[in-house]
Amino acid sequence: MSKLALLGGAPVRQTAIPWTNTMGEEEKAAVIKVMESGTLSAFLGRAGEGFLGGPKVKEIEYEFAEKFGVRHGISVNSATTALHTAIAACEIGPGDEVLVTPYTMAATATAILMNNAVPVFVDVCSETYNLNPNELEKWLTPRSKAIIVTNLFGLPANLPEIMRFAKKHGLYVIEDNAQSPGATINGRQAGTFGDLGIFSLNYHKVIHSGEGGIILTDNEKLAYRCQLIRNHGELIVDELNDSDTVVLGSNYRMTELHAVIGIEQLKKLDGFLKMRRKLADRLTSGLNKYGGLKGVTVPAGYEHSYYVYPIQFDKAVWGIKRATFAAAMKAEGFPLGEGYVKPLYLLKIFQHKKVYNQTQYPFSLIDNPVQDYHKGTCPVVENLHEERLLSADVCRVPYHEQDIDDFLAAVEKVWQSRQELHEYEKNSFSGS
Ligand SMILES: *Cc1c(COP(=O)(O)O)cnc(C)c1O
Repeated sequence: MSKLALLGGAPVRQTAIPWTNTMGEEEKAAVIKVMESGTLSAFLGRAGEGFLGGPKVKEIEYEFAEKFGVRHGISVNSATTALHTAIAACEIGPGDEVLVTPYTMAATATAILMNNAVPVFVDVCSETYNLNPNELEKWLTPRSKAIIVTNLFGLPANLPEIMRFAKKHGLYVIEDNAQSPGATINGRQAGTFGDLGIFSLNYHKVIHSGEGGIILTDNEKLAYRCQLIRNHGELIVDELNDSDTVVLGSNYRMTELHAVIGIEQLKKLDGFLKMRRKLADRLTSGLNKYGGLKGVTVPAGYEHSYYVYPIQFDKAVWGIKRATFAAAMKAEGFPLGEGYVKPLYLLKIFQHKKVYNQTQYPFSLIDNPVQDYHKGTCPVVENLHEERLLSADVCRVPYHEQDIDDFLAAVEKVWQSRQELHEYEKNSFSGS
């Protein structure tokens, strides 16, 4: 039996579902207007007119702040540079530690290294995949300065508990909300609980402008520091005679073109989310009919954005390995991710503690580190990643309810064939 035809009969889905262009006439018209104006960026790297950018950049900042209900929006050119900016705005640097989830895109943790501080990884909840607030205490040290929490896959973390802990211990909270725009807890927007929240406008995200990032904050001083870091702040503070502020800036500026695309996409966010939620609800009720598969669990009062649809697989119930299940689903036309990114402390950069050539900097600044990144540091996330988690990408444009039903038909076919797959696995497959 070949790997491409694990099961008998025609695959449920014969042709792959293509990636669809979500750019409409609105985005095109807006871009053409900017092109005709000739002002593709109006930023100037000096104090005064132009320091805060052109009209469209200011407009996207206003629209994001308005939509999510905060005072200040700062646009940048990616969520990665947004993270770098947010950490630097909090004056976190050499000798500091930042508590962070290990189950997130690498940038969430590397942005800490970019500021010469050191990440300390905090295990996740097995139901939500998000940072577990009960694990924070264990890793707290006098060097802890902040918590960076990712709202993963579209679900807000337990932000009320995390904020309570942070307030008690005087820590900043930065929310990495790249995956969860429009997700809420009791009506309050994810990305607005922390001191700073960051959003992504990268091509792969729920809404996008190709590349781009937004920082939201209610704190005026942090907003000012973000603006400085985005645009060569070391120069500007001198020009402003601001002798209180020490800052190292860069060029993280968004163009007017990206701003107008983002403005149009933001208007479409609610519509995209409505569709994602409808598809996801259908998928959840279908999946939960199977003992050994668990669809998304949304805690009471939470709303999910379904950037990724995570499924938990129980090999004891199915009698086959996760890899076999994924291979069979792929053969039926529905490729699934096995796990997500590997828990970040297992990356070579942490295992070898080599960031800047052969030095151990910035790890070398920490005496008696609370964490050494060994395998087993965060057992819940390791188990989810290695054994249980499957990630599906079927709740976005252009998927329809029929595609969800096809997905569930493929699951049913695999379920009916699990004995056959078990035999196949024994004979020819050595996945984990
Ligand atoms: C995509 C993503 C980022 C980085 O976003 P960019 O805009 O591509 O830099 C950061 N954090 C998380 C959780 C992400 O999913």
